[in-house]
Amino acid sequence: MLTGLHLAVIGGDARQLEIIRRLTELDAKLSLIGFEQLDHAFSGAVKEKIDEVDFSIVDTIILPVAGTGLDGQVDTIFSNEKVFLSEEILLETPSHCTVYSGITNSYLSGITKKADRRLVQLFQRDDVAIYNSIPTVEGTIMMAIHHTDFTIHGSNVLVLGLGRVGMTVARTFDALGAYVKVGARKTEHIARITEMSLTPFQLKNLEEHVRDVDICINTIPHMIVTASVISKMPPHTLIIDLASKPGGTDFRYAEKRGIKALLAPSLPGIVAPRTAGQILANVLSRVLQEDLQSRKG
Ligand code: NAP
Repeated sequence: MLTGLHLAVIGGDARQLEIIRRLTELDAKLSLIGFEQLDHAFSGAVKEKIDEVDFSIVDTIILPVAGTGLDGQVDTIFSNEKVFLSEEILLETPSHCTVYSGITNSYLSGITKKADRRLVQLFQRDDVAIYNSIPTVEGTIMMAIHHTDFTIHGSNVLVLGLGRVGMTVARTFDALGAYVKVGARKTEHIARITEMSLTPFQLKNLEEHVRDVDICINTIPHMIVTASVISKMPPHTLIIDLASKPGGTDFRYAEKRGIKALLAPSLPGIVAPRTAGQILANVLSRVLQEDLQSRKG
């Protein structure tokens, strides 16, 4: 149980509703910031404006998966008001206050470091990232179907990166009957791709492998689908870039060449917010109970 724990849930999309539901069930006290347009009421949770919250009694701050923008703004789909998280707010919290988010950026890492508050990135955990890859690949399939006039079955699909998302994408498109090639840079990844009965290639040879690609799915959060790579693709190629913003594709050049290239962030929140929220709620409720025990201990 989370009795006695005071949390501030700041912003987010429908995924946060599962987190709020779970944490209130565990008897935590919640301040909901950026939720005033939400019709639903949760017992134990109070909707507040950020300047009304007494942060001196807040043990935990829960941010959306994306954390904050580079200016500190937190996305709030249930509010029209702009909500910002600042170093000053963090300094009002008790020293044990922990900030949870999915990922971070230079702003969020900077203010938590300066305020000396612990920042936990839930998506760094393999369990969260692997569970989350399931709704991510379902969203990718949805996009592939929506933006092509051919079947996935029988098409040439290139997957870039064999991380937690890349592996699920490669395996699922293979199961749908696509001819899947996977690009990686590590020899152990090349070995794993071979073991999965898929076609591996070294990323440094990417340009040689795009000449007959129908769908290129990037999971590498670095510029990898460059203008030079795109120039070798057939005109009908669809690029789906799953990597976190700004993605790994030269979108300007793709548009210039008339190749459809889509940056597709937050697919779990779009196609399966309930499941995606439950994945986060499961982990958060466990981690928060452990934190509370260790503080009491
Ligand atoms: P991950 O497990 O860390 O995998 C990243 C992959 O990229 C690894 O194969 C890694 O290979 C490769 N890589 C990283 N830097 C590289 C570089 N400079 N050159 C070549 N390869 C490089 O990450 P993940 O959990 O799969 O997530 C992948 C991306 O998808 C992240 O940006 C994540 O935020 C994003 N994501 C998006 C969605 C969505 O809805 N769009 C959902 C979940 C995650 P090495 O091992 O060789 O470094």
